[in-house]
Amino acid sequence: MTTLIAGSYTIQILETGRMAMDGGAVFGPIPKALWQKKVATDEFNRVAMVTRSILISSGGRRILVDTGLGNHLQEKLRKIYRIEAGSDNLATALNDAGCQPDEITDVILTHLHFDHTGGALNFARDEPLPAFPNAVYHVQRTNFDWANTPCEIDRASYIRRNFYPLFEMGKLHLLDGETEIFPGIELLTSDGHTPGQQHVLIHDDRAPVFFCGDLFPTVFHLPTAWISAYDLQPLKLIEEKKRIVQRVVAGNWRIIFPHDPAIAAAFIEKENDTISILKIDDDD
Ligand SMILES: [Zn+2]
Repeated sequence: MTTLIAGSYTIQILETGRMAMDGGAVFGPIPKALWQKKVATDEFNRVAMVTRSILISSGGRRILVDTGLGNHLQEKLRKIYRIEAGSDNLATALNDAGCQPDEITDVILTHLHFDHTGGALNFARDEPLPAFPNAVYHVQRTNFDWANTPCEIDRASYIRRNFYPLFEMGKLHLLDGETEIFPGIELLTSDGHTPGQQHVLIHDDRAPVFFCGDLFPTVFHLPTAWISAYDLQPLKLIEEKKRIVQRVVAGNWRIIFPHDPAIAAAFIEKENDTISILKIDDDD
């Protein structure tokens, strides 16, 4: 488990699941002739991915960002996304990080797509219960509203029972735009992948840490034009990516990638149009 320090916070990177997604969807407009040089495919043209969360701790506050795939997805979806048996590792990963579910004070959901919200609720009994009973769950209002009435393209990505019960229980804190949610922890927003996605920036004098959500699902999505078929507003996303990459490079940010199977965290450097990735292992 990679552990980073930023400001007064310790950040543990948790791998919470393994899956595979259609390569054509993952790389959108990019021809396979180009992306196949970088990633392998299985017999159904799928590329391996992971789901990642981070646990941010300081004093008594323990903030979990995203909750992975969970363990209650329909069998049909488990097959489509090659979700491996026992791949709900959120509880195990948290335990390995020295944290129990009832210690989580806050859950920040970057957005409500099923591969980021699957572990938010516990379905072990008939009625769903919050998987983190003492936590407030934070999401952008724009994303919550969108998730409740998604468009035809992304309807399948929003599974209502993953998140709506939290709203009914009064556990969901709806945010209106960018904000410093805790001292030194800023939420940035973007709309290109899906409306009202939020990204977590943990400030540090030397090297801030940035959990980028699906702005850059993998390191292969760092170049501006490498977007996926799941991105609803490609041109907007391209502008957002350009702006963020500039800040990442200028500010010496460390990026944590939610879906890259090989690289959890990296510094990036940019010279003209060439992006170099410097993998990060551990701070200690
Ligand atoms: Zn997404």
